[in-house]
Amino acid sequence: MRKADLIKELEILRSDNEQIQKERENARMFMSAIDQSSESIFFTDIKGHILYVNQTFEKNSGYTRDELIGKTPRILKSGVHPPGFYKEMWATLLRGEVWRSHLTNKRKDGSLYHEDANIAPVRNEQGKITSFVSVKTDITELLESQNYLREMNAELSRSNAELEQFAYVASHDLQEPLRSVSSCMQLLEKRYLGKLDERADEFIRHAVEACHRMRNLIDGLLSLSRVQATATNLVPTDTEDILNQVYANLAHSIKATEATVSHESLPVVFANSQMLIHLFQNLISNALKFSGGQPPVVRVRAERKKDHWLFSVSDQGIGIEKSYFDRIFHLFQRLHTREEYSGTGLGLAICLKVVERHGGNIWVESTLGKGSTFFFTLPAVSLWSHPSSDIAKPSTLP
Ligand code: ADP
Repeated sequence: MRKADLIKELEILRSDNEQIQKERENARMFMSAIDQSSESIFFTDIKGHILYVNQTFEKNSGYTRDELIGKTPRILKSGVHPPGFYKEMWATLLRGEVWRSHLTNKRKDGSLYHEDANIAPVRNEQGKITSFVSVKTDITELLESQNYLREMNAELSRSNAELEQFAYVASHDLQEPLRSVSSCMQLLEKRYLGKLDERADEFIRHAVEACHRMRNLIDGLLSLSRVQATATNLVPTDTEDILNQVYANLAHSIKATEATVSHESLPVVFANSQMLIHLFQNLISNALKFSGGQPPVVRVRAERKKDHWLFSVSDQGIGIEKSYFDRIFHLFQRLHTREEYSGTGLGLAICLKVVERHGGNIWVESTLGKGSTFFFTLPAVSLWSHPSSDIAKPSTLP
C-alpha cells in the first residue's frame, strides 16, 4: 500500500472511531436518563425475559436488578388479573401494537402496588420485533387517596343523613310537649296575669315569650329538615302566584311596619312551590325586619340570563358588613342579639338549601347602612335534565 493510501485509511479509521465514541457517549447519556427516570422502565427480549430494569423499577418492586435480569415479569404477578388479561396483552404486543392498562403487581414483600403501564414492541432495521420496552407510572398513592376520599364521602353522607333524620325526629317530637307547655302558660297568663305580684307577672311573660321562641326554632328546624328530606318534585310554578301567597302570609308584618313591597313581572319557573314560598318569605321577612326603624321598601325582580333566571330581593335597611356575606347563610349565624332583632338564625340556611335543591346559587350584596340585595338563581332550561325533576316538559314554559 502506498503511503498516501495508508494515511487516508488511517484517517477513515480515526473518524469511524470518533463516531463510535460519540455514539457510545450518547448511549451512556440515554441509559443514565432512563436509569434516573421517575417512571419504572424495563426491557425484555421477545420471549419476555428481562434484559434491563431501571432504579425506579427496583424501588417499586422491591427486587434488585440482579434478582430480575433473566426472569420474566411473571415474578410480579399479583393474582388480581384473570389469565385472559395477560393473554390479551401478549396478543396486542405480538401484533406490533402498544398495550396500555392499569396493572396490579406484587412486590417482593408480598404487598400489592398499582401502575399505569405502557408496553411497546421494539423492531430491528428489518422491522422484526426483537424486544419490548415497558414504561410504568406508580399510581398506588393516587388510588389509595381516591379510595380514602370515596370512603370519607360515603361516611360523611351517612352521618349527614343520620343528623338530618335526628334533627327531624327531635324537632317533630318536641312539638307535642311544647304545645302542652304553651297552652298551660297561656292559661296561666289569662287567669293570673295582674292578679299576683309584679315578679309573678314578669315570670309569666318570660315563660310565654320563651315558648314562642322555642316554637319558632322548632318550626325552623322542621322546615330545614323537610327541605333536606323531601323529593324536590319540580313543577311549572308561577313565581307571581308564589309572591301573592307570601304577601298574604306576611300581611300582618307588612301592615305593622308600613312597608312598601313591590315586584316586577315574574316568570314561571320549574320549582317546588312550598320551597319557593319558604325562600321568598324568609328573604322578604328579613327585609322587613332589618329595616333600621324606617318603613321598609322591598323590591323583587327577575332577570332572564342565558340558562337561568336571576332573582333579587332588595331592601334599603341596615345592610351587612362584607365580611359576613358568607357566614349569614350558615346555621344559627346571627349578627345581632335577640334583644335587637328577634330570630333563629335558620332563615338563610333554609334559603340556601332550597336554592341548592333547585340547582341554583344564592348570595348577598350589601352596603352597611344603605341596604342589601339577596340574589338567587333558578335554572331556566337545563332543568329538563335536572335529576330531581320527575315530570314531563310542559309546552307553556319559556
Ligand atoms: P334570622 O333572621 O332568624 O336572624 P337568618 O338566617 O334569616 O336568621 O339571617 C341571618 C342573619 O343575617 C340575620 O340575623 C341578620 O344579621 C342578617 N340578615 C339577613 N337578612 C338581612 C337583611 N335583609 N338586612 C340586614 N341583615 C340581614
